[in-house]
Amino acid sequence: MARIIDGKEISAAFKERVKAQVEELKSKGITPGLAVIIVEGDPASRIYVNNKKKACEQLGIYSEEHALPNDVTQEELLALISSLNNRSDINGILCQLPLPPHLDEEKVINSISPNKDVDAFHPMNVGRIMIGNFDFLPCTPAGIMEMLRYCDIDVEGKHCVVIGRSNIVGKPMAMLMLHKNATVTICHSKTRNLKEITRTADILVAAVGKANFVTADMVKPGTVVIDVGMNRLEDGKITGDVDFKAVEPISSAITPVPGGVGPMTIAVLMQNTVTAARRQNGFI
Ligand code: NAP
Repeated sequence: MARIIDGKEISAAFKERVKAQVEELKSKGITPGLAVIIVEGDPASRIYVNNKKKACEQLGIYSEEHALPNDVTQEELLALISSLNNRSDINGILCQLPLPPHLDEEKVINSISPNKDVDAFHPMNVGRIMIGNFDFLPCTPAGIMEMLRYCDIDVEGKHCVVIGRSNIVGKPMAMLMLHKNATVTICHSKTRNLKEITRTADILVAAVGKANFVTADMVKPGTVVIDVGMNRLEDGKITGDVDFKAVEPISSAITPVPGGVGPMTIAVLMQNTVTAARRQNGFI
């Protein structure tokens, strides 16, 4: 039977450490501040934003939400980001993705000051992640690395297979594992013989966005399986990219969905906000 990697437990421990940093900052008269921009319309985005606000409240981080109507113009959105870039009480800014098609996501990401880019999506922060010298952690991949560390699962020398090459999950995931001396293979929709590759993984990360995509025949016995997927089923329930029921018995450790990677992503976002506040106030 596999060890269930409990994202709620691990994120609670991680957030305790972030809370201590918040308290230390507050003792010096500084309250970390996060601005969250949401363009209304996507119900999933609304849930994610609410969870981020809740986490800020829990940890004593000031947060403010900017909910914009679905027909907001690019100029209005950029003007808001510019004003937030200039505020000293706001240390971190995030714009919840995806945006409606009339808005240019790349321009929006690029307009957030790299010093306040707590999602680490700005090209400058992405480049620094690539080099291995970064202030802001890529939230989901860094959350996964923390889960592996917490569970004493060393990636050094292991074959890590990442399914998915998105800029926010797959690519930075591969980079963080590479920085820790794993041998990494990235798979995507054009990969040939996917099953043969995934069956050689010691650690398999699924970031595909398709429910039950990873089946038991794709997994070698004893593999550590990390499920990033968050797929909404017709009944409204969330499920991962891994067929948990079939894969759990053959894996050595596995993350559930929900209660796996998701809570860690938010915990790392909180850490990034505190890091931003510390850096902007000259403490690091
Ligand atoms: P994405 O941008 O849609 O990327 C999906 C990746 O999967 C792409 O690289 C795509 O390949 C690959 N793919 C699609 N079909 C495939 C196939 N048949 N075989 C192999 N690869 C295939 O998605 P994302 O933003 O990375 O997110 C992935 C999942 O993670 C989603 O369910 C998302 O909701 C979830 N997520 C969860 C968290 C969390 O905190 N838990 C955070 C972020 C995302 P191509 O590049 O070739 O198209």
